Amino acid sequence: HVKNQGKNNYEFYSSSMNTSIAEKMQILTALHTALENNEFHLTYQPKINIDTNTVYGMEALIRWIHPKLGFISPEIFIPKAEDNGHIYNIGLWVLEKALEDTKKLHDSGFNDLTVSINISSKQLEQNCFLDDFRKIIDKVGLKREFIDLEITETQVMNNIESSLDILRQLSALGIKMSIDDFGTGYSSLNYLKQLPASTIKIDKSFVLDIDKDENDKAIVSSIIALSQSLNKNIVAEGSETEEHIKILKELGVNQVQGYFYSKPLKFEEFESFLKEFR
Ligand code: C2E
Ligand code: MG
Ligand code: MG
Ligand code: MG
Repeated sequence: HVKNQGKNNYEFYSSSMNTSIAEKMQILTALHTALENNEFHLTYQPKINIDTNTVYGMEALIRWIHPKLGFISPEIFIPKAEDNGHIYNIGLWVLEKALEDTKKLHDSGFNDLTVSINISSKQLEQNCFLDDFRKIIDKVGLKREFIDLEITETQVMNNIESSLDILRQLSALGIKMSIDDFGTGYSSLNYLKQLPASTIKIDKSFVLDIDKDENDKAIVSSIIALSQSLNKNIVAEGSETEEHIKILKELGVNQVQGYFYSKPLKFEEFESFLKEFR
């Protein structure tokens, strides 16, 4: 949204603010009809085991391309959808689509892939979530052990009692769980211990400068130590370079996700990626 860059600072500042307010309104209105107008699609980003050099899964990431507004980042529209309740149906759509795509991959021979799906705590707060969730997984028929739900640390911690309850019920169904964006929020170690999550995802903000910033490296090391003592797997997001991968390996991380291996891909591109990687 950098516009009028050649003009003076004041003009640049005010016009970009006006644009962004108008844009915000347009996005809100457009969000009401995005689902019914089929404006969403999913992309998949591979998750790599760097010990065995295999693709063990992928994260489903939603994309919205509006016919007039163009590409709108999920960082922008997901929080809005959480505020106005649209996240519930969007989330069910993501779940069904991601499970169907993964089922296709399993049926074509890639039958050990785990799909990670981002879940907002706003979805979990709805009483009907568990029922709707079960209906979809039963309908699609993908084995539950290959479903991983990513929930951000901040969202879990903000609603800890109700989150714990529903996460335990999901876990009892055989669903896996990951704590997303770990390190960016404030976690009580006591609650962390109680969460049924099997995996901690280190936030990319600690990984992106890991080769330059000793503090980031120290933080990543302590997250790894913590996860080991809690007996949880570690995934490092934001692994962009060979140097990142090398350092992460040295620190004992074996699961990574990031641009070094691949950006999020459309389903057909992801299928090709899998074939080439094998
Ligand atoms: P997230 O769940 O933490 O997803 C990881 C984000 O990091 C993705 O951004 C991904 O494209 C980006 N990323 C992956 N590798 C790299 C890398 O090497 N370098 C950098 N700089 N970035 C990398 P994306 O797709 O824009 O999604 C942003 C956020 O939007 C997600 O963060 C998640 O919180 C939310 N989101 C995306 N799809 C969904 C969804 O279906 N449902 C919900 N509730 N939230 C979603
Ligand atoms: Mg995620
Ligand atoms: Mg994340
Ligand atoms: Mg995030």
